[in-house]
Parts: sequence; structure tokens; C-alpha cells
Amino acid sequence: MTLPIYHLPVVQNWDCHVCGTCCQEYRVTVTEAERLRIEAQGWDREADLAGREPFLPHDAKRGLSVLNHRDDDSCVFLSDAGRCRIHERFGYETKPLACRLFPFVLVPVAEEWRVGIRFACPSAAANKGRAIGAHNESLAEFAAKLAEREGLTRRPDGSLTPPPPLERRPNVEWKEILQIVEVLLGFLRNRRQPMELRLRRCLALASAMRPLRLERLESKQIRDLVEVMARTVEQETTIEPSMVAAPTWVGRILFRQAAALYTRKDHGPKRGLPGRGRWALFRAACRFSRGRGMMPRMHQHIPVVSFEDLETPRGPLSVEAEEILERYYTLKVGALQFCGAASFGLPFWEGLESLALTLPILLWLSRAYGDRPRHEAVVEALTIVDDHVGFNPVLATRRQRLGFRILARRGELARLIAWYSR
Ligand code: SF4
Repeated sequence: MTLPIYHLPVVQNWDCHVCGTCCQEYRVTVTEAERLRIEAQGWDREADLAGREPFLPHDAKRGLSVLNHRDDDSCVFLSDAGRCRIHERFGYETKPLACRLFPFVLVPVAEEWRVGIRFACPSAAANKGRAIGAHNESLAEFAAKLAEREGLTRRPDGSLTPPPPLERRPNVEWKEILQIVEVLLGFLRNRRQPMELRLRRCLALASAMRPLRLERLESKQIRDLVEVMARTVEQETTIEPSMVAAPTWVGRILFRQAAALYTRKDHGPKRGLPGRGRWALFRAACRFSRGRGMMPRMHQHIPVVSFEDLETPRGPLSVEAEEILERYYTLKVGALQFCGAASFGLPFWEGLESLALTLPILLWLSRAYGDRPRHEAVVEALTIVDDHVGFNPVLATRRQRLGFRILARRGELARLIAWYSR
């Protein structure tokens, strides 16, 4: 029996507007069964695929391949008219699951599938299309296929996967995790406050609760404790961002290194400096550390801009920009896209801090689009930064995690959020 699909109470819309971004930007992984099925469709290497193999090996142990790409980085099945040849010739249902699922992210949470979305898709970031509930039938089908592909079966508590550890194992149950998620969502939906304060409150809760050994407590004790902590955090978090101390030089250097990672584009038509080899990348990393002069073009869609421009405050966000950020963070947190199964197995609190770091990076990067209305600048920055959230394995490497941990434990993360909200 498949688990139900759960939508968060967030106004999020989406429909494919055939921009072709996903077919040009991403490496699509296919299972062995999908590869065999597509090969059996009888593609002519020369006439259909410009003389290329349709697949390249990816992970032999798991029987995975990736779709091959052309010189311009577009998928080998993408036609000159920007349409998927598999779709055109054999129907939508015959495309690889990953292509059909994008930009949705289905996360098994307790006894349901939660629906997240990738804002790296321009239509998702711009909230264009039908309400995502309209895609329920397809989502239910994808969820069943995903469970089958990953070999997920119901556990004794009814869930498909164990809950992500809060900090380390032994762990609390799904019920307790969801209580904490509700508290975080309460902070994130509080429209009387700017998003920067809402996220600083989430971080304050993380830092207050991290040392607690919740697994030793009864469920009711945990619920009471979480409520008390939430009230304390609400009362004690500094309201005015100008009253929060500025980030130190350590925080700034680690921030720019993280920003370099979140703004880079390694393949596709928007590929930036990383496409020019290791030496160019090394020099770019040095310039990000110095933080002076022109910012290296890590991504073709980022305008030419200096680090000094990016450090110039632009004042509080507009109401529209705040709404976009609320939609983004509510979906990411509510669908648990920041930890566990959806994010390289990161523990809950660590994943939350890693997600919170995207806010100062978004605010900083949106300053590069100074000629655009504030909400459009935020959407541009979101499509670039979210490309990495939950999908760039470098973010989960030991080295990166150490950098993020230093930022969080030294209190630099909250300082950066306040600093770049100016
Ligand atoms: S198979 Fe089709 S939908 Fe998938 S990436 Fe290639 S062209 Fe796009």
C-alpha cells in the first residue's frame, strides 16, 4: 500500500513552461530497467542522437547510468526545437522517472510523502502554473515508483524510512521530529516579522535544543519542553537586526567560500568559470577569500559585479520578496528537504543550519541584480542558490560541513543573516 501525498498549506504553483532548463542543466540518472526500456525504443544513433551513445555509465554497483549530453550540454534526446524526443515519439509516460519528477521532490516523512519543490526550476521560483495539488495523481504514481526503485517498504511504525537523527543516534521518533518541525513552521509563517528574524529564531531554537538528550524523555515531556523552548526563543531573540553584532573576519571568509560554492555552475549553457579548468577555479577561490575587486563569474546568469557592490546594503526587502522567501523556506522545512533522505543523510539541526546559510547568500547575491525590482532579484538569486540545496554532494563533504559548523557554533550564521538583511 502506498503512503498518502501530503501538501503543506503553502500557495505554491507549478507547470512546465518548456524552458528546457532541466534538459540542459542536469545529468539525469536512469536505472537499468529504464535504460533497457529506452534502448528497446530503437533509437538511431546517427539520425536521432547526432552519433552519440544514449547513455554513459554512472554507478555500476547500483546499475545506474546517466543520459548522455551533446557538446552544448543539452540532453542527447533534446531536439533542436527544444522538445524531448522520447516524449514526442513514445509519450510522456515513457520518459525516465527523474525527468517526470522534476522539479518535485518527494520525501518520505513518517506515514506520508511530503511534496517539496526545486526553486532551481524558473517556473517554480516564479510560482507559475497550477497549484501543486493539481499534480496529485502523477505525484502518487511517482511516489509508488520511487518506493519500488529504492526498495522502501513499511516499517513497524508505518513509515518508509527512519527519522533523521536530530544530532546523533539514538534518536527520537517521527512524532517528536514533526513536533519540532511544527514549531519551526510557526516561526517561519509569522508574517509580522521579516524573514531574517524568523530564520534567526529557528537557529536560536537549534542552538538551544542541540545539547538536549531528548531520547531520554517521554513524548509528553518532549512536547512540553519544545513549547517552553519556543516561547523562550521568541522572547529572547534580538528583534532589531542592527542590534546584532556584525560577522567577524572568520565568518566573512567562510561565508564567501560558501557563496562561491552556492553560486557556481559547472555544466550547461549557464556554466561559469568552473568550465575553464582547475587553475581558473583556484584563482576564483582566492579572489572569493580576499573579497575585493570583481566577483569571478561562477555562473553566466550573474551580472558582472564587484564584491564592494555586493557589500552595499539595499534596505529591507519588499513585501513581495518576503512572500517569496516565506514560500521557499516553509516548503524546504515542512517537506524536510534540508536533512535526512532528501539531503545526503544530514542530521536535522545541522541540515537546518546549512539551509539557513542560504538566506544571507541569497540576500547578498540578489544585490547583483540592482537594476531589477527587489522580488525579481530574489527570484534570480533563488534559482541559482537552490540548484545546490539537497543536490550538490560537495555540501555534505566533511570539509564543507566543518565550515558550516564553525559558522553556526560561533554564532556567525545569525550575524550574517542580520548583516545581509540591511
Ligand atoms: S530524456 Fe527528455 S525530458 Fe529527460 S532530460 Fe532528456 S530531453 Fe529532457
